Formats: sequence, structure tokens, C-alpha cells
Amino acid sequence: MQRIAVLTSGGDSPGMNAAIRAVVRKAIYHGLEVIGIKRGYSGFIEADMWPMDLSSVGDIIHRGGTILRTARSEEFKTSEGRKKAYLNVQRFGIQGLVVVGGDGSFRGAEIFNSEYNLPVIGVPGTIDNDITGTEYTIGFETATNTVLDAINKIRDTATSHERTFILEVMGRESGCIALMAGLAGGAESILIPELRYSIDEVCEKLIRGYKRGKLHSIIIVAEGAGRGLDIGKQISEKTGLETKVTILGHLQRGGSPTAFDRNLASRMGSKAVEALMEGYRKHMVGIVADKIVISPLDAAFKGKRTIDLEIYNLANILSI
Ligand code: ADP
Repeated sequence: MQRIAVLTSGGDSPGMNAAIRAVVRKAIYHGLEVIGIKRGYSGFIEADMWPMDLSSVGDIIHRGGTILRTARSEEFKTSEGRKKAYLNVQRFGIQGLVVVGGDGSFRGAEIFNSEYNLPVIGVPGTIDNDITGTEYTIGFETATNTVLDAINKIRDTATSHERTFILEVMGRESGCIALMAGLAGGAESILIPELRYSIDEVCEKLIRGYKRGKLHSIIIVAEGAGRGLDIGKQISEKTGLETKVTILGHLQRGGSPTAFDRNLASRMGSKAVEALMEGYRKHMVGIVADKIVISPLDAAFKGKRTIDLEIYNLANILSI
């Protein structure tokens, strides 16, 4: 193998830059050439791709976002679109591809591999932590810390005004960010899509807390579990308490990656290059029990990720 390519696709996440840096530097270290593809599969189809050298990834390890940019490409979902991408594979002499992205991007990579046999390695980069085959995805830890920072700030104002705050956080169909930030931030209730919840129980808990002298309450709602505004309205109708809703939105996708995410991205990016050199053809890298592992690419979307019930129950016990 002489020349590989790397792209970032789907939703961006903090740490993607560290992953690109690791792919480029590790590949060059082993004497490979690297092509950087801009704007995910869109740039793959449109030949928006350029050679990368050591200095092209300098000064990016601490930056959020992705220097390669990212995109969602409807055209890549069509066989005509993927054919155009394959013509670029031939034109640029690409012999292996590293895709940094979420499960949608991995699905695209898997289909492309089955059609054109180009070796592809997925590096899980999404704040949602919704990919099976890895315990953590790049960006999840940073996003969780961003939410935690917001909880801390809201707690200050919530205490001053003795109010109930509802904080809607990202995660698509995953409650991972809500759960881990909620536990760390001491939220009174955490509503996640993986588990059914009862608004009546949330309200009862709130009232119990206020009767005991609690000055404020913070309820975290994962976006997949409902809309913060609806839940705030229901709670104030049922309890008569004033609720304030904050929707954190895209600020959760940005920011300088934490040490954990930079190190995870560096290790995963490096392993992806090793995997290509060792002949893996349709695989992903992941982290399991603090070891970087290689699994079949479809491990990312064939299984259903479950929530750690022990952690959920603990959060409930500690916020009684
Ligand atoms: P993420 O990778 O963050 O889950 P998306 O689900 O939006 O993000 O997927 C990113 C891109 O991957 C899509 O815009 C599309 O180009 C490609 N993709 C997703 N699913 C498929 C599919 N079934 N076939 C081909 N390409 C796909």
C-alpha cells in the first residue's frame, strides 16, 4: 500500500482534527502518502482532495471542528454518486480510505467497499456515543464536559432564583451525554430515549425535593427523549412551578477537545493506518476496556447500543 485517503463525514465532533493529524503523521511515518478529502463524501465525488504533508496537520490538535470540513451527501447514497467517487479513487491512486464519522458514514463506507472493494477503516467520531463496537466515540467526552459546564452555570442562577431548569442536550437517539453529564452535574432527573419515563414521577420527585428545602432543580432531557419546551410546559402545568428551559444546541459540537478525546483520536487514527497496512478491508477501530480494538465495520450499526442501567440507577439514587 502506497497511498491512502482520509475524510471526515456527517456531524462534526471535537477531536476529529486530532484523528486527522494521527492518520496523516502515522501514515507518513510508515512511508505512505496521504490524500485529504474535503467535505466528506461530497468532496470524494467532486474530487475535492489534496495531498497532505506533516505540516498540513500542524497546530490543529487543540482545535474543535475538522480542517477537512464535513458534509452530508445525498449523492453518495446513489450508485451513480458512488461511481463518480470510485473514478476519483482510480484517478488519484487511492488504495485505502479512513472515514472519520458516525454510523451513517460507516454505512456509506461499507456499501462503497462492497461495490468497489476499496479497503475502508472507520474511526468513530461523533458526540452522540451511539456506535456499537466502541465504548467511546471521539468528541463525546468533550461534549459531556460542555454540558457539565452549562449545568454548573445554570445551577448558580437556579439557586439564586429558586427555579426549576430544564436543559435539553444533544445525542440523537442516544442518552449517553444526558446520562453522564446529568450524573456528574447532580441533575434531579435525567430523561433519556433508552428508558421510559413518567412525567408524573418527575413531578413528584420535584415536589418532594422542594418540600425538603431544595432551592432548585435541574432536569436533563436528551433530545431523543422529548423536547425541553414541551417537558417544561407539562411540568409547570402539573406542579404550578415556574420552569425555565435551555436548549444547548450546537455549542455542544464545538470547543477544544479534552485530553481524553485528543488521546482517543490519536490512538484511533494511528490504529486505523495500522489496520490498513495489515490488510483489514472493512473494519472500524474502537476502544474496549482501554485497549484500541479492530472490529468488522458493520459492528457499528448491526447492534443496538444500550445504556448502563447501573449508572442510570445510581444517578437516580444520588439525586433523591
Ligand atoms: P453520521 O456519520 O454522523 O451518522 P449521517 O447519518 O448524516 O451522519 O451520514 C453521513 C453521510 O454518510 C451521508 O450524508 C451519506 O453521504 C453517507 N451515508 C449514510 N448512509 C448511507 C447509505 N445507506 N448509503 C450510502 N451512503 C450513506
